[in-house]
Order: sequence, then structure tokens, then C-alpha cells
Amino acid sequence: MATIFSRIIAGEIPSYKVAENEQFYAFLDINPMAKGHTLVVPKQEIDYIFDLNDKLLAEMTVFSKKVAAAIEKAVPCKRIGVMVIGLEVPHAHIHLIPIQKEGDMSLTNPRLNLLGDEFAKIAEAIRDNVK
Ligand code: AMP
Repeated sequence: MATIFSRIIAGEIPSYKVAENEQFYAFLDINPMAKGHTLVVPKQEIDYIFDLNDKLLAEMTVFSKKVAAAIEKAVPCKRIGVMVIGLEVPHAHIHLIPIQKEGDMSLTNPRLNLLGDEFAKIAEAIRDNVK
């Protein structure tokens, strides 16, 4: 059965897309740790990130770098924190999280409750900055 992320990529489930190319899809996390929290996923359905072949993993990093630069322009923050967990959704993904301080990366922080139009505005602002 397709993962929820494959169904998002296929357009069967809605998402707030921020960037896409032939191999990767980036969209806002629906339970964000911060405004602009983005997930980058390979279109190829591979569960564990370190099962990606070297080329795909390298390209995913370069794509994430491009998305991170756009998030930094769209969302006030000090840096973009990078995290990989992958225990909830069995489809490799990189979390890109705008942070001001180390504690902003803590998994025990409460997630934000944003409205649909807030997600839409953030996604648009990031999309506008993707080079
Ligand atoms: P993990 O697999 O532990 O890295 O976490 C999966 C992440 O995917 C969590 O931060 C969820 O909030 C996020 N997530 C799950 N379903 C969706 C969805 N339909 N749209 C956007 N983000 C999602």
C-alpha cells in the first residue's frame, strides 16, 4: 500500500507544497514545530533514509539546501534546523525547521496549531523564494 507521502505526491491527499522537481517533493508539516516546518521526501518510496543510494541521498541534500534557503527568506529565523526521525511515516523524509535557539528542535515541544490560510500563506511565501 502506498505511504501517505506517496499519496500526497500523487495529489490524492492535499498538502501545502513548497517545492518539487522530478525526484523530490517538499511540503509543510501538518503538525509543525515552527512556522515554515517543511518535509522533503523522495518521490521514490523508500522507508529508511540511509537505504537511499548515494546519488539520490546527495541530490536530496542539495534539494533540501535549496528549500532551506527559501524558508530562511520567507520565515524570520536564525537557522534552519535539520532533523531525520522517520518513526511515524515509513517514507524517507528530512525535516527542515526554522529555529531561533537549540530548544526549538526539541521533540517534546508542543506542535503549533495553524489555520489553513496560515499554512497557505507560509507555503506561498516559501514557494516565491525557491530559486
Ligand atoms: P517522523 O516519521 O517521526 O519523522 O514524523 C512524520 C512527520 O510527518 C510528523 O512531523 C507529522 O506531523 C508529519 N505528517 C504526517 N502526516 C502528514 C500530512 N498528511 N501532511 C503533512 N505532514 C504530515
